[in-house]
Amino acid sequence: MLKLLAFLKPYLGLVLLVVVFLFGQALAELFLPTLMSDVVNNGMVRGDSAYIWRYGTYMAGAALVSTVCSIVSAYLASMVAVGLGRDVRARVFSRVEAYSLREFDRFGTASLITRTTNDVTQVQTLLVMAMRFMVYAPIMCAGGLMLAYGKNHALTWVLALVLPVMLAVIATLATLIVPLFRTMQSKLDTVNRVLRENLVGIRVIRAFDRQDAESERFRLANRELTDISIRVNQIMAAIQPVMMLMLNVTSIAIIWLGGKYIAQNFLTLGDMMAFIQYAMQIMFSIIMVTLMFVMMPRAQASAVRINEVLELVPGIVDPAVSRSPAGVKGRVELRNVTFRYPGAEEPAIRNVSFTTFPGELTAIIGGTGSGKSTLISLIPRFYDVESGSVTVDGVDVREMSQPELRARIGFVPQTPVLFSGTIASNIRYGKQDATDDEVAHAGQVAQAEEFVGQLGQGYDSPVAQGGTNLSGGQKQRLSIARALVRRPEIYIFDDSFSALDFKTDARLRTALRKETGQATVIIVAQRVSTVMDADRIVVLDEGAVVGIGKHRELLDSCKVYREIVASQLSEEEMAR
Ligand code: ADP
Ligand code: MG
Repeated sequence: MLKLLAFLKPYLGLVLLVVVFLFGQALAELFLPTLMSDVVNNGMVRGDSAYIWRYGTYMAGAALVSTVCSIVSAYLASMVAVGLGRDVRARVFSRVEAYSLREFDRFGTASLITRTTNDVTQVQTLLVMAMRFMVYAPIMCAGGLMLAYGKNHALTWVLALVLPVMLAVIATLATLIVPLFRTMQSKLDTVNRVLRENLVGIRVIRAFDRQDAESERFRLANRELTDISIRVNQIMAAIQPVMMLMLNVTSIAIIWLGGKYIAQNFLTLGDMMAFIQYAMQIMFSIIMVTLMFVMMPRAQASAVRINEVLELVPGIVDPAVSRSPAGVKGRVELRNVTFRYPGAEEPAIRNVSFTTFPGELTAIIGGTGSGKSTLISLIPRFYDVESGSVTVDGVDVREMSQPELRARIGFVPQTPVLFSGTIASNIRYGKQDATDDEVAHAGQVAQAEEFVGQLGQGYDSPVAQGGTNLSGGQKQRLSIARALVRRPEIYIFDDSFSALDFKTDARLRTALRKETGQATVIIVAQRVSTVMDADRIVVLDEGAVVGIGKHRELLDSCKVYREIVASQLSEEEMAR
């Protein structure tokens, strides 16, 4: 929490104003009972109506001042808290943008979303309360005590008895409720998780007829959250009546004792009324502060979660002095590359070496889980290698700036990701200033033209969030077009033809050959037919290279490759 307070810095002026106005409000409110006691003592008792009018006007003035101050301070405090919330969110967002996939994997998408939204809101809410009560309550409490004591020393004993009792009651309730608040946050997490899994997995749930089981799972999580919320609210509900009881008992005690003193001419009626009001002000301010302390653990938990995001330093940063390769070529060289996912025992990539050349097609083939996707994610530096090196045109990717490195690469991920917008806006994601012709050309090469033409508005047809209004193969082709429009020097296709039928696959590859020209092309594929005519085929098995060469050579020399081929092609095709 304290660390987040550093974000208050730009708002210190406003915070000071809040304090000033709260001070004004507190002073005006403290002044009111004294004025009232004057009205009663000097005006009413003597029947001096001019006096009553005059002091009545003063009272109205004080009330007005307190109202105005209260409104202004509340407004300013909200402005500060909302501004701080915005700043924290912006900082969290830009930090997450700077994360490498390694840090991403650590938190998970859902948690990052909650941390940026809900957790920031929690902190923001507490901040508003803190700013309003932290200043106001102590002034009211101390000022009230002093003024009450000034009105009558003897009656102060009542407060001396009541306040400790009240503090004890509040402390008990707080110790009961604070752990419940913690549990409540974690139950809320569970409900969120179950709900999220259900929404994302709705097709699977329907297909396997698991609605009932899932409903039950949700019902349980929901039930637990409900139970704990009810318990929290039971305690919260108890707080108010208990406090009212204590306030009223205190009033009665003061009236009872005060009545005696008045009879003995030891106290005036006005002073007694003022005393009661001070007592109420003191007790109210104590209640407010404790309520805030009850809310604190919740916001504290959120603050910790936010700080975790802010303090995790991105593992992949640009070098202080970046080098850039001379000219545009596209030679990618992996030298003895080993890579391990964080926390994994076995490396996902072991000692891999190969080189790709401009104008050539390099294919990577291997069973599922053999490390193909992992291997190519090292080229755009999504992850850093554990040992060995990845160089592009002779420069280590760690020595280049990330934007410069990635500008050279057209990357087509294994799972196509589209953004809500239009077909054209998705293709332009690869190159912002692409002309309509460039967009259409990329679409044509990616074999997207036909289905785009069938959509009502061609390239201006809408794409739904996540591209849900397109088929898997259509999404793949758009994601290919997005890479093509960049005209990069290195193309990387991660299993990007898997959802295409053989005919489209073949047409696409022929068109690609022409389009990519002098660029380096790296294709990850499952189908032998896709890789057969590559200039170089890299065969991966359990993260290691077990063969490099052309189709014919590998058929002779590489057992793993032969097995893959045998499982897919007929004898005569093999002999080709
Ligand atoms: P392929 O693309 O060849 O099917 P991957 O490169 O996706 O294989 O995966 C290789 C291995 O790395 C697998 O054993 C998989 O379990 C592991 N792996 C993949 N992604 C991650 C990740 N984000 N965190 C940890 N392990 C991973
Ligand atoms: Mg893969």
